[in-house]
Amino acid sequence: MFDYVIIGAGFAGSVLAERLATEMNARVLIVDRRNHIAGNAYDYYNEAGILVHKYGPHIFHTNSEKVFTYLSRFTGWRPYEHRVQASVDGQLLPMPINADTLNKMYGLNLNCLQVEEFLQSVAEPCDNIKTSEDVVVSRVGRELYEKFFRNYTRKQWDLDPSELDAAVTARVPIRTSRDDRYFTDRFQAMPVEGYTRMFEKMLDHPNIHIMLNTDYNDIKDEISFRELVFTGPVDEYFDFCYGKLPYRSLQFEHQTHDREQFQPAAVVNYPNEHAYTRVTEFKYLTGQEHKKTSIVYEYPCAEGDPYYPIPQPQNAELYAKYKAMAEALPDVHFAGRLATYKYYNMDQVVAQSLTLFQKLSGRRPTRSAQ
Ligand code: FAD
Ligand code: UDP
Repeated sequence: MFDYVIIGAGFAGSVLAERLATEMNARVLIVDRRNHIAGNAYDYYNEAGILVHKYGPHIFHTNSEKVFTYLSRFTGWRPYEHRVQASVDGQLLPMPINADTLNKMYGLNLNCLQVEEFLQSVAEPCDNIKTSEDVVVSRVGRELYEKFFRNYTRKQWDLDPSELDAAVTARVPIRTSRDDRYFTDRFQAMPVEGYTRMFEKMLDHPNIHIMLNTDYNDIKDEISFRELVFTGPVDEYFDFCYGKLPYRSLQFEHQTHDREQFQPAAVVNYPNEHAYTRVTEFKYLTGQEHKKTSIVYEYPCAEGDPYYPIPQPQNAELYAKYKAMAEALPDVHFAGRLATYKYYNMDQVVAQSLTLFQKLSGRRPTRSAQ
């Protein structure tokens, strides 16, 4: 008999397992259908001995001191600021769009103020920004939108930006400065021994039992527990009773090359060419030194593991129905990117689980207090 059974050993499930075991002395069983912990953040040393991210590049960044301090219990950090280039019109240009992007692209020498003037001259004003097209076109106009955003988005989501919520392309800022970092968060760093090692430390507690290669559906009638935390897809939990929530998937093609460096930046985005969206070279992220180098191509697709909730109004409506069902179950809690159908980064998932833990710890006395 466990106090808590947690489905999913990614950030959502592992943070809760750690908190419940450490702070409430709860007996926790954590179950995952994959053969490893760490969810989509899983990393491992490949056959060449290079640390790679199995499910695509994971770069840690947060403005939350609380989240950073919490994770720092389980890992040291390697400072890392992420930089991306986009292949446009035969050149590699800084992405997010900044002063250098425009100067290189148009052969200009504008300063930051002149860049602002230029953007205002090409922007198409929009009073009511609703879609991912509005958010970009209203800031940089149609030409830059088409070169940098439109086709990438169509490839990634199989939808036109005009069909997606504004929040999707709004993830990527537009800058008038020369700042070429992908993120500007206060804390930007990579776990020094990798994500999987950090998760191993998080879950290393005598009260936490881990069961891998096990699907919840196959054991749900056999395990007994007081409360359940579910971090898989919420529609799956309810047997798709209102229909399937759409998720976007990816296929990853990993390669190792017999040379030290493959490309001039950690990530190169290909908005307009190829079937893949981006290529990541892992050694930039990890700082590892090695004679060879490993990269991954991301090919978006409809079928496969659910990686991205699709931010559209009709999907939010469908999710609201599942959310209402979820809220009616007092002993089952839903957390994480798939179970709350939110396009969350890792730090947001950690914050969500820490908040859920506060709620759970307020409801039940700790075992030692019983
Ligand atoms: P997951 O990591 O998906 O974990 C859920 C786990 O539940 C999985 O291991 C799954 O196997 C298991 N599970 C599901 N259903 C069942 C079941 N029925 N039975 C048993 N087990 C089940 N975030 C960033 O902050 N920075 C980045 O750079 C970044 N890059 C990303 C790149 C890609 C390609 C993707 C897809 C995501 C990226 N993210 C990034 C987001 C990040 O992956 C998520 O925020 C985070 O991993 C979500 O954690 P989670 O625990 O909610 O979900
Ligand atoms: N995007 C784009 N061009 C780019 C990079 C991003 O159009 O070069 C859009 C695209 O719709 C993408 C979204 O912005 O899905 C968010 O980009 P981000 O890099 O945050 O995606 P993630 O890392 O979550 O896949």
